[in-house]
Amino acid sequence: MDIFHEAPMFQGVRQMLGAFAKAQIRPVARKHDEEESMPWDLMKVAQGFGMSQSALIEGTKGITGKPDDEDEGGDRPKKPRSSSRIAVVGAEELAWGCAGVCLALGGSGLAASPVARMGTAAQKQVFKQALTGLDEHGHIKVAAMALSEPATGSDISGLATTARKDGDHWVIDGHKQWITNGASAAVYVVWAQIDPAAGRAGVRGFIVTRGTPGLIPGRKETKLGIRASETAQVHFEGCRVHEDMMLGIERERGQQGTGGLGDTKKMLDSTRPVVGAQAVGIARAAFEYLLERVQAGTIAGTPMASHQHIMFELADMEMEIQASRLLVHRSAWMADHHQENVKYASIGKAHAARTAQWVTTRAMALLGEEALEPGHPVEKWYRDAKIYDIFEGTGQIQRRIISRALTGVNPT
Ligand SMILES: Cc1cc2nc3c(=O)[nH]c(=O)nc-3n(C[C@H](O)[C@H](O)[C@H](O)COP(=O)(O)OP(=O)(O)OC[C@H]3O[C@@H](n4cnc5c(N)ncnc54)[C@H](O)[C@@H]3O)c2cc1C
Repeated sequence: MDIFHEAPMFQGVRQMLGAFAKAQIRPVARKHDEEESMPWDLMKVAQGFGMSQSALIEGTKGITGKPDDEDEGGDRPKKPRSSSRIAVVGAEELAWGCAGVCLALGGSGLAASPVARMGTAAQKQVFKQALTGLDEHGHIKVAAMALSEPATGSDISGLATTARKDGDHWVIDGHKQWITNGASAAVYVVWAQIDPAAGRAGVRGFIVTRGTPGLIPGRKETKLGIRASETAQVHFEGCRVHEDMMLGIERERGQQGTGGLGDTKKMLDSTRPVVGAQAVGIARAAFEYLLERVQAGTIAGTPMASHQHIMFELADMEMEIQASRLLVHRSAWMADHHQENVKYASIGKAHAARTAQWVTTRAMALLGEEALEPGHPVEKWYRDAKIYDIFEGTGQIQRRIISRALTGVNPT
């Protein structure tokens, strides 16, 4: 039972995606980890039963059966959505199967999110159209969100990629690094500086489709974990993009918001609960494996379960996993109820990332040398867990956000 017990919808998502993870993801997880290959076949299967790469653009149907974004207008308070809670329940289950595969299945959401939030109807259409059909390899099409650069990760105000106006086009130049789906994407949301003197306020997002001259997908990186998800460099060399493809243009024309970096940061607050939920999924996977072993195993002829230090470690793990899940769910609940969740999104993500690393590290220690063998499931979860302390804001950045929310002071 969990805090979503009251809504059968969330239970249904958990059961359906949990079954999918067990039957379809677990059997191929090791192969894609070893090969560092995207699970293209599985992605097709998932798409076949509704896990579309452009789902965030299309909108998730809420408890009422209406699209989540549907606003009744007028002075009525906004109705609660359910999409953030659905996403965290689903993410935990899929990452329990394999975090790399989970990211391959949902990585396009990173790009879809700013388009859904800031895109015009025409931009959404371009984005969806780019993801329609199969590519030249027969693979389903994916999207990438290109923000990070070789010298700019946490501090996104220092972006070196520029966009220069030339007639009714923007000309983009720069290099992006560590971009999920970066080599294969059919469509990119790239962030560039349009006014270096303006700092953060000058950063804008642009939709760029594959094949646009000057957009050059780059080298694929080799990684410690989540190896079923592709991470690559992306280069922009005199890449001309029509002005209609700049995100936030409606807001620039007088509507609320800036259409710029501020909106990007809000986007991260809605994706952080999902990333935190993935970390919970990894922790749970390692914990369940260990629990089964403890119940069946012996140490020097005595049942493992008779050793108090092992039992206490299991109890600590259960406490931390439950706490992480509740924190992540709280931030998703706040997002669904249109409440400011900046602090809680960071608390949930940072706590879950720490839990995943700690549980997998302790599981390795308790299992001993067998867990060091390449291909051992706990060894893989241990490697997969590390990334959750790095992307979507490092552990230190989450702590900056939390401490700033507490004190109003920016830590130096
Ligand atoms: C597998 C993977 C997938 C990724 N996918 C994407 C993607 O799809 N799109 C995208 O745009 N990016 C992506 N990234 C990039 C990711 O968002 C960055 O790696 C992350 O933001 C950290 O940036 P950095 O690596 O440049 O580290 P840095 O920002 O250089 O940080 C280095 C160290 O300094 C610390 N630090 C930095 N600033 C501060 C501060 N002010 N106070 C205290 N400590 C600080 C950090 O916590 C860290 O420990 C991905 C990364 C990985 C590894």
